[in-house]
Amino acid sequence: EAEVALVGRSNVGKSTLMRELTGHTFDTGGKPGVTRQPNHYDWAPEDFVITDLPGFGFMSGVDEEHREEIKTNIVHYLEDYAENILVAVLVVDGKSVIDIIDRHSGPDEVPYDVEMFHFLRDLDIPVVVAVNKMDKVDDKDERLNDLCDRLGLYPPWKQWQETIAPITAKKGRIEPLNEAVREHLHEQNRDDL
Ligand code: GDP
Repeated sequence: EAEVALVGRSNVGKSTLMRELTGHTFDTGGKPGVTRQPNHYDWAPEDFVITDLPGFGFMSGVDEEHREEIKTNIVHYLEDYAENILVAVLVVDGKSVIDIIDRHSGPDEVPYDVEMFHFLRDLDIPVVVAVNKMDKVDDKDERLNDLCDRLGLYPPWKQWQETIAPITAKKGRIEPLNEAVREHLHEQNRDDL
């Protein structure tokens, strides 16, 4: 069955978003790294499943070795199921994503989010970046333009509404994400004709 895969660092609001998308309740604020295995859920309005992949990156109480293992598992899952994945949703925290990316950019360091974005594209999986917690961001356009810049997308972000979807999952404001995902699904249906 066709699937939409959700990836993102821990604490970006992935569980909150899953709850909005599926109506199920998920462990939020629970023990970090609890989602170890990919979890599959039906996405009612459309005929596919949503796969929630484990959160990656820093988690208190989870050691470096285990963090690497989680990341390796995610990468293998995406490689193995690339054919099946219609769209990947990379969830980021709009409030902190630029700071985190900039802090981890260097001559021999690529930040997780940037790495994941390019990795998914290399696998030919269309990516939608769900920029969450926009309720905490004042200079929205500037923040989204900065994000485009870091991802190698030519600003302004408004040109990339199929790729950049500002949302506030906590308040159920996720229409830009639904819209972007729908666009990709329809594009692929057209390609299949
Ligand atoms: P996960 O680790 O990615 O699954 O993140 P959670 O869904 O557990 O959310 C982490 C924290 O971010 C929780 O305190 C949520 O209430 C909060 N959060 C999630 N979405 C939003 C949002 O849209 N706005 C704000 N301000 N907080 C959010």
